[in-house]
Amino acid sequence: TVGVITLDTQQNLCVGTSTSGLFMKRPGRVGDSPVSGSGFYADSQIGAATATGLGEDLMKGCISYEIVSRMGRGMSPQQAAESAVYDLETRLISRFGRAGDLSVVCMNARGEYGVATTIDNFSFSVATPSQPAAVFLTARDG
Ligand code: ASP
Repeated sequence: TVGVITLDTQQNLCVGTSTSGLFMKRPGRVGDSPVSGSGFYADSQIGAATATGLGEDLMKGCISYEIVSRMGRGMSPQQAAESAVYDLETRLISRFGRAGDLSVVCMNARGEYGVATTIDNFSFSVATPSQPAAVFLTARDG
């Protein structure tokens, strides 16, 4: 999945996803990517988030909505991303005995961003008017 969040000069936030789904997926499977609240969510007053990983797990947490909701309650994007991923991972372990494959990026209405993942290497990029494009790699626990 590729997820994109943009913030324009009028303070409009926009989020989009594109995915091929999972390798060897069952015909007719719908993952999280096209599902509002799970694969993506945006509220221009607060922020936006998008997710990648195992859709069946991401949907159990409505993870993108959850992150935006946490930003709306005052968390920074990084706090919201990390805490939402941590809470969902904890829930998945306690209910199903396994951690999920969860990665998220988010941005608030001021253009501050956050990222969190449960996998070993997750790459994302950031572009601003003063910094056209930089690619970063993040890993589990930072
Ligand atoms: N989240 C997608 C899905 O489960 C897969 C992906 O992120 O690559 O359909």
